[in-house]
Amino acid sequence: MPGLNENFLKLEKNYLFINIAKKLNVFKAQHPEADVIRMGIGDVTLPIPEVITSAMKQACDEMSVKETFKGYEDSGAGYDFLREAVSGYYKSFGADVPASDIRINDGAKSDCGNIVDIFSDDNIILVTDPAYPVYVDSNRMNGRQIIFADSNEENGFAAMPDPSIHADIIYLCSPNNPTGSVYTSAQLREWVDYAKANKAVIIYDSAYEAFITDPDVPRSIYCIEGAKEVAIEMCSLSKTAGFTGMRCGYTVIPEQLKVTASDGSEVSLAQLWGRRQGSKFNGVSYPVQRAAEAVFTEEGLRSIRENIAYYQENARIIADTMRSLGVKFTGGVNSPYIWFKCPGDMGSWDFFDLMLEKIAVVGTPGAGFGKNGEGWFRLTSFGDRQRTIEAMERFASLVKSM
Ligand code: PLP
Repeated sequence: MPGLNENFLKLEKNYLFINIAKKLNVFKAQHPEADVIRMGIGDVTLPIPEVITSAMKQACDEMSVKETFKGYEDSGAGYDFLREAVSGYYKSFGADVPASDIRINDGAKSDCGNIVDIFSDDNIILVTDPAYPVYVDSNRMNGRQIIFADSNEENGFAAMPDPSIHADIIYLCSPNNPTGSVYTSAQLREWVDYAKANKAVIIYDSAYEAFITDPDVPRSIYCIEGAKEVAIEMCSLSKTAGFTGMRCGYTVIPEQLKVTASDGSEVSLAQLWGRRQGSKFNGVSYPVQRAAEAVFTEEGLRSIRENIAYYQENARIIADTMRSLGVKFTGGVNSPYIWFKCPGDMGSWDFFDLMLEKIAVVGTPGAGFGKNGEGWFRLTSFGDRQRTIEAMERFASLVKSM
C-alpha cells in the first residue's frame, strides 16, 4: 500500500470556490425562481476579439497541411514569435525583458503552483495575507513553513516588509487578488531591497497588470531597478485578453537570477526551472500560441483594451455604490476587484449567506483568502453591465435596510 503525502490531508477540505458553488446549489434548489447574480468567481465574460480567434483558426488550418503541420515544440519554452511579442509588450510599459528570459505556459496558476519544485522544503515562505490561495496551498502540499505579512485596513491592504523577520521566498501580487490594492514603485523598491538583504527570491504575480491606469503603479516588477537579481514574474492572458478558457500565460526568470547551492556553486534559477519543465511540461498548443501572439498586435491590443475598459466601468459603478453607502473598500481602480468591509461588522461567510438569501447576489467571502480577510468581501467587475447595475441596486437596498 502506498504511503500518502499527508500534507494534503492538512489542507482546507475544498478549494474556496467549490464551497461557494455548494452553497449556491443548495440555495438554487430551495429557491428555483431566484434570479441569482454571480459576482464571485473572477472569470471573464466578454468574448475574445475576432482578431485573436481568427489567428487561432488560421493556425488550426496550418495543422491540417503537411508543410505547416507542427508537432512537439522543440524548446518547450514557447515559440520565438510569441516570446518576442511578450518581450515587446514589456517594452511598451518600460520593462526590459528579453525573449530569452520568457517561458510560455498554460496559464499562471500552473507555474505559481509548480515553481515550488525548484526550491527546498526548508525555505521560509512569506505570503501576504489575504492572498490568492495557490501560494499557500502549493507550499503546504510540501509541508513548508509559511509566515504571513498582514495586509489590512491600517496599511491599505498593501503589506510591507518587516526587516526584523527573515524569509527566503516571498509571494507578492499586484494588482492584488483579492484586495484590489496595488504597490507603487516606491513600495516595490522596498520589497526588492528587502529581498536583496535577505538573499530571498520574490515570486511576483502580475496577472492583473493590464488593469493598471495609475502611472505611479508599475506594470511589472522589472520596472524597478535591480529586480532582475531577485524576482521571478508570472503573468497570464486570462484576464488581459479573456484567455481563461484558452489557457496561456508566461513566466519570466531573468538570467541574472542566481542562487548559491549547498556546494557553493551559483545556480541559475532559469536553468533549473527549464530542467523541471523539460521533464514535466510539453508546452502550449501551437494555435493557442498564435492566438496569444495576435493579442500583442496593434489591433489585438486595441480590442482587448475595449474589453478591459468595459470591466473598468463596471468596477467604477461598484466603487461608486460603496462610496455612496459609506462602505469602506479598496480596489476598483487599477484592478477588476472591489474589496469591501462587510456592513454591520458581519463576518464574511455570514454576509455571504445574507446577500444570497436577501438579494440573490453571490460574492466571495474574504475569510477564504486568509485571516485578514475575515470581515471583508470581494466582488468582481467581470460581469455584464446591466447585471452589475442591478446587483448594486439590490446591494444598496440591503445595506440601507441593515
Ligand atoms: N494569479 C492570480 C492572482 C489569479 O487571480 C489567477 C486567476 O484567477 C491566476 C494567477 C491564474 O490565472 P490563469 O491560470 O488563468 O492564468
